[in-house]
Amino acid sequence: MARIVMKFGGTSMAGIERIRSVAARVKREWDAGNEVAVVVSAMAGDTDRLVGFCREASSLYDPKEYDVVVSAGEQITSGLLAIALQAIGVPARSWLGWQLPIRTSDAHASARIEDIDTGALSASLAKREVAVIPGFQGVAQDERISTLGRGGSDTSAVAMAAAMKADRCDIYTDVDGVYTTDPRIVPRARKLKKVTYEEMLELASVGAKVLQTRSVGLAMKENVRVQVLSSFTGEDAPMADTLPGTMIVGEEEIDVERQLITGIAHDKNEAKITLTAVPDKPGAVAAIFGPLADANINVDMIIQNIAHQSSGSASATDVTFTVPSSDLARSIETLNQAKAAIGFQDLTHDTRVAKISVVGVGMRSHAGVAATMFKTLGERGINILAITTSEIKVSVLIEEDYTELAVRVLHTAYGLDAEPDAA
Ligand code: ADP
Ligand code: ASP
Ligand code: MG
Repeated sequence: MARIVMKFGGTSMAGIERIRSVAARVKREWDAGNEVAVVVSAMAGDTDRLVGFCREASSLYDPKEYDVVVSAGEQITSGLLAIALQAIGVPARSWLGWQLPIRTSDAHASARIEDIDTGALSASLAKREVAVIPGFQGVAQDERISTLGRGGSDTSAVAMAAAMKADRCDIYTDVDGVYTTDPRIVPRARKLKKVTYEEMLELASVGAKVLQTRSVGLAMKENVRVQVLSSFTGEDAPMADTLPGTMIVGEEEIDVERQLITGIAHDKNEAKITLTAVPDKPGAVAAIFGPLADANINVDMIIQNIAHQSSGSASATDVTFTVPSSDLARSIETLNQAKAAIGFQDLTHDTRVAKISVVGVGMRSHAGVAATMFKTLGERGINILAITTSEIKVSVLIEEDYTELAVRVLHTAYGLDAEPDAA
């Protein structure tokens, strides 16, 4: 007998027919004698719709009330799956975040899980009940409902697996594993049998939304065995522990010869802000990023141009940086409020940008990865607006219209394309 967490994403839960097929898959694991906790997402598109309602109601909405609204999608699917399981003879019940409870921080809309009480849950599992847990939600210190940030059901699943000391955390989604890049953009993307926590963390953080970044960080810290699998396989498909998905593993478990680059990701959810004629003096940059940090806005890429003489005698410089698009309105407001203290002339912004990143631990020991990237993009006439790097990643900002082309040509340039017959 094993203790397993099964997580089903939005596409897998989209409609009663699919929920029935999820129930059948859960039943197979339960029939095999396993203790099963299922974490579910809202039906695909529902959370977007709920977020849209909040924005429509007010552009600067109260995050506590936002959480009340957007957590509702998972409440529906958890109840529906429990009903579908009962209908096929599997004793099941839903456990909402506040009922377990799943305790989180007070950072509404992007709360962190702090503690999960598994007492009642363990008793229920011991009675051979299947637990159905809505992902994405918890209860904050202020006793109000909280949500974990978009894509947060992955984190709910990994946190449940860690708290329950589960043997496995199986993430069922609409692709059958983690690929070298989004297979919806590059049909010749290759499925990875294994990917290290570190690379997956980096890939997720730069836009590979197949797993939420925090879920990977948590899995790495808590040593949770995470597997990404497709929920769109027939009823006669092999059991999960023999399915060919992707395992997220420690670096020591990667035995095959490493590619230089493991994967490529893109992110269209960043916005570029430029402040012109910022005084070129000590403390000027702190005057920009201090207020943004105080407003909890994460700045990603930063470029400060060389100083030039402005109309007066003092020299000045332009500063360009990126923030999440969802924080653009607040960023502009924050910067305009601090305009006198910063001393900039104009603020311009652009949301039609995309960040393209190449990731791989092989980069640590090989030079030339960045050079290949710049050359490949240059040959296609794709202009680079900003650059950042880490030990295992190079990211560039480009015009959004070139996103798909950039990902495709880089995928080929780094030798990641699958053989045509294997695709
Ligand atoms: P779920 O609703 O199951 O959580 P998501 O839409 O959040 O599913 O994540 C799955 C999607 O992630 C896939 O449909 C795919 O388009 C996208 N994706 C992006 N990068 C990758 C990648 N490297 N490998 C696999 N899928 C990826
Ligand atoms: N339903 C939430 C979202 O769409 C959480 C999730 O699906 O992981 O972001
Ligand atoms: Mg997801």
